[in-house]
Amino acid sequence: CGIVGYIGNSDTKEILLKGLEKLEYRGYDSAGIAVQNAEGIHVFKEKGRIADLRRIVDENVASNTGIGHTRWATHGVPSQVNAHPHQSTSGRFTIVHNGVIENYSQLKRQYLTDVEFKSETDTEIIVQLIEKLVEEGNAVDEAFRQTLMLLKGSYAIALLDAENDETIFVGKNKSPLLVGLGEGFNVVASDAMAMIQVTDQFVELMDKEMVIVTKEKVEIQNLIGEVMERAPYTAEIDASDIEKGTYP
Ligand code: GLU
Repeated sequence: CGIVGYIGNSDTKEILLKGLEKLEYRGYDSAGIAVQNAEGIHVFKEKGRIADLRRIVDENVASNTGIGHTRWATHGVPSQVNAHPHQSTSGRFTIVHNGVIENYSQLKRQYLTDVEFKSETDTEIIVQLIEKLVEEGNAVDEAFRQTLMLLKGSYAIALLDAENDETIFVGKNKSPLLVGLGEGFNVVASDAMAMIQVTDQFVELMDKEMVIVTKEKVEIQNLIGEVMERAPYTAEIDASDIEKGTYP
C-alpha cells in the first residue's frame, strides 16, 4: 500500500521507518524494510504494525541504501512470509511492490516453472523474473526493463541488487510513485508525505517509466530506454497535517 526508499549517507533504517509511519493512515496489514551495505542486504519484515517491525530491526546494521513497504494483501494472506520485501532465489535481488500483477500466473507458467517460490504473492514473480533474465546474461537495468515490459497490471516497484550498493531501480505503472531529490541523497516514495521530512523537491513519474536512482543522480527512462527530462516541483504539505498524519 505504501513504498519508501532512500540512498545517501544518513541513517537509512530510521528514515525508512519514519516514512512508513507517515503512510500508516492508508491502512496495511504488514510492513518491512531491506537495508543494504557493502556486505549485502538485510531484510526485516513482520505482520502487524510498524511498531512491531521496529522491534525486530537490528539496530547494529549500518546502511546507506534501503527500501520499505506497507502491504495491503491482494495475493496471499497477510503473513510474515508474504510481507515485502521479497527476494529472488539466490538472494541477489530484493523488491517491494504496490499494486497487482494481473498476468502473474501466466508469467510463472511461461518463464519460471523451475523456480521454487517462497511466498504466495504476485510480487515474487517480478523479482524471480529479473533474476532469471540476469542469469541469462542481461545487465540488471536491461533485465529490469524487460521484466516491466512483461508485466500487466499496476505497479510501483523499488529493487535492490546485492552486487550494487549504489543504485535503487524504480518502476511505475498505474500506482503512485515519486522520486525525491536531496543534496547528496535521493529518495523514493508513493506519497510525498512519507519523505517530506528530508526533502520537498519531487519528480513525478509517468506510467511505464523506470528510474535509476543513485545518491547523486536520478535518471528517468521510458521502457524503450529513452532518457526523459523532467523538472522537480515543490511539495507543499501543511505541517499540522503532518502532525495529525491526515495528509492529503
Ligand atoms: N499485490 C501485492 C501483494 O499482495 C502488493 C499489495 C500492495 O499493494 O500492498 O503482496
